Amino acid sequence: MTETPERWIDPERVESAIAALAEHGARGETGVARLVYSPEWVAAQDQVAAWMSEGGLRVERDTVGNVWGYLDGRQGDLPIIATGSHIDSQNPGGRFDGALGVVAGITALAVLRERFGDPERTLAAVSLVEEEASRFPAANFWGSRAIIGRIGTEEPKRLRGYDGVTMVEAMRDAGLDPGLVQDAKRDDIDTFIELHIEQGPFLEHENLPVGIVERITGYRQYLVTLEGAANHAGTTPMDMRRDPMAGAAEIISGVIDTAFRMGRPCVTTVGRAIVTPNERAVIPQQVAFTVDARSPLPEQRETLLARHEALMFEVAERRDLKLSLRVDSDRQPVMCDPALVETIAQAATAAGVPAMTMTSGAVHDAMQMAEIARIAMVFVRSAGGISHSPDEFTTTEDAAAGTEVLTRALHTLAYPS
Ligand SMILES: [Zn+2]
Repeated sequence: MTETPERWIDPERVESAIAALAEHGARGETGVARLVYSPEWVAAQDQVAAWMSEGGLRVERDTVGNVWGYLDGRQGDLPIIATGSHIDSQNPGGRFDGALGVVAGITALAVLRERFGDPERTLAAVSLVEEEASRFPAANFWGSRAIIGRIGTEEPKRLRGYDGVTMVEAMRDAGLDPGLVQDAKRDDIDTFIELHIEQGPFLEHENLPVGIVERITGYRQYLVTLEGAANHAGTTPMDMRRDPMAGAAEIISGVIDTAFRMGRPCVTTVGRAIVTPNERAVIPQQVAFTVDARSPLPEQRETLLARHEALMFEVAERRDLKLSLRVDSDRQPVMCDPALVETIAQAATAAGVPAMTMTSGAVHDAMQMAEIARIAMVFVRSAGGISHSPDEFTTTEDAAAGTEVLTRALHTLAYPS
């Protein structure tokens, strides 16, 4: 019989931090609405900075509002190993999305310092800004994009939130200078590991607490607009219509069916449709809808997209509709670093935490960080696979198990063996 290894992480510590963070922007019993640069968000980042200080970390805030806590290494000139996630939430979302990765990172570094003192390589825990785009619809990955230098100088002036406030105003409200966003860019990060809740059903289905991400899905998001001719619903014969709703119905059911027939892991979603004029007795003039198509396999993604686009053009042509296809975002799948994945797998084994390798169907800050660093992710089981909802839940035991794996992996990477 094998003994359960001693745990480095006290589950109580993780649980109480999650509960304390959830107070900032609490909605109802379990929900959180913590929008970037809001007073609740500022209070949460202050709490994070305080925990970093208490854990013996050196705290810095960058010009976009990311909070960094460093455990300085003996070889301070080497590139750093960073871990963390985002502190903003959906509106409202749950208490674990993003927050668990921030708590896990701070806990990991504080525990490593307590047990082993200074590392060889500098470790950093980071609490990132606006991953969700829940306040500013076009500002997703704001914090991680600032770090990799992918925010344009004019972008803060251009962006406007759902509340009508511009990014410039919101940043000033939080005590930040929007003119200095570019200064958040850095080139000293070698490794980035993000711990995050799975937000899907696979770990629960496999009855495992922890997943190790091997790749993050690629995607393309379209806005498809079909223009026809509005007319009377009673007097226009079917064979004389240019009906964009008929075309949209055919395309929507076609793209969903294509993804279904191609099988896992590809997925296609039509989540939004705008009908003009949207009247009961009028053939619409225009139907616009979004298509979100994803696959973590580069070839499968290309095939899926090619089939979707061919269908759109074929239907529009046959039904004499004007098609306009706008690509809003497009990203190839991102591979996690195989050596890092192996280090995390070994950490899970050493901790006695059962884990499996898997794919992330959701996008994450780690995907941005992949442009400047080697990356990997640790996933923790989500109850019922539910996320982006106040019903999101992860047990304390699972949250601690994931944090344990993260901590041991960081130990392997930053301390001499
Ligand atoms: Zn998240």
